[in-house]
Amino acid sequence: MSEARAVRQQLAAIPDLRVTADEPLAPYTRFGIGGPARLFCDAQDQDSCVAALKVIKESGLPHVVIGGGTNLIVADAGFAGIVLRYTGRRISQTGTRLASEAGAYLQDVVDLSIARGLHGMQTMTGIPGYLGGAVYGNAGAYGQSIQERIESVIATDGESVQSFNNVECGFQYRDSWFKSHKEWLILAATLHFDEGDAAELAKTAREIREIRDKKYPPSMRCAGSIFKNLFFAQLPPHAQAEVPAKLVREGKVPSAWFLEQAGVMGMRRGDIQVATYHANLIYNDGAGTAADLAAVVKECKKRVTDRFGFELEEEVQYVGF
Ligand SMILES: Cc1cc2nc3c(=O)[nH]c(=O)nc-3n(C[C@H](O)[C@H](O)[C@H](O)COP(=O)(O)OP(=O)(O)OC[C@H]3O[C@@H](n4cnc5c(N)ncnc54)[C@H](O)[C@@H]3O)c2cc1C
Repeated sequence: MSEARAVRQQLAAIPDLRVTADEPLAPYTRFGIGGPARLFCDAQDQDSCVAALKVIKESGLPHVVIGGGTNLIVADAGFAGIVLRYTGRRISQTGTRLASEAGAYLQDVVDLSIARGLHGMQTMTGIPGYLGGAVYGNAGAYGQSIQERIESVIATDGESVQSFNNVECGFQYRDSWFKSHKEWLILAATLHFDEGDAAELAKTAREIREIRDKKYPPSMRCAGSIFKNLFFAQLPPHAQAEVPAKLVREGKVPSAWFLEQAGVMGMRRGDIQVATYHANLIYNDGAGTAADLAAVVKECKKRVTDRFGFELEEEVQYVGF
């Protein structure tokens, strides 16, 4: 029996774990791009998820954890290993705290916080994906990010289940300790809030949602911003000299500005398109491929490097490359 078949049998014996072979990954990504995973596991509760990760790690086969797939570029050839997704979605409230499983939609957490008059995540409305993915990448928008709300995170490496406090999560701009410790899978988080007025919070969220839906129409197959913004203080002096002062917000310059100056707006390769109104937005306009997407990302980086002498860093994560 092949190694993968033996592992599949072990995984199939775990209760509440759905295991499939050669599962196309495109439907699990917002780009709608990506070939099959050798094995795909969907864990609906914490115990099955921990047990699955243990088996996967012991197998020695390559593996990757995904959430809602809204920040992923999956290779056309797919992933020659095991993909594990955790879809536990329960959210509960104690006073001004929400405890949520990592497979909850971030929007559900945001909506509940607003409905319960909890201030702190209302401007994060409209960020797609799961809570776990948001913690991993320290998601944020319009002045709020998840790091300000995290009290603790529960995660597993397949051997133990541990609690991490906010400091231990090592949050930085679109970064966390988990990004450099990919052997850990985020299972749940406790978020703390300030008291707020539900109607006010809902109004703010509605206004932001309107702006966001214009920029990222709900049907657009993309990953939001492809590249991280830049810290002004870390730019080379000649690039700093060119940046208009009004663009610097909270010490950061939008990467879209550099991309625009480098002339990438509207660039197209196959069905992969750089938006004509936002240079840091790349979308699949039909039957786009990961090869074309990766090539467009590479060309964007090259043009910025040629023009400004520094390299942009992707916010989006690669699978199977
Ligand atoms: C239209 C659009 C708008 C967006 N706007 C924003 C925005 O305003 N701000 C922002 O910050 N982001 C934004 N994003 C990016 C994306 O939504 C966030 O990064 C989101 O938090 C990713 O969550 P996900 O569940 O989809 O993760 P995925 O895309 O599935 O995975 C992303 C990474 O997280 C890791 N990961 C996922 N779940 C877990 C887990 N449970 N444990 C450990 N690692 C895990 C994966 O291994 C992968 O490396 C946008 C994306 C889109 C499509």
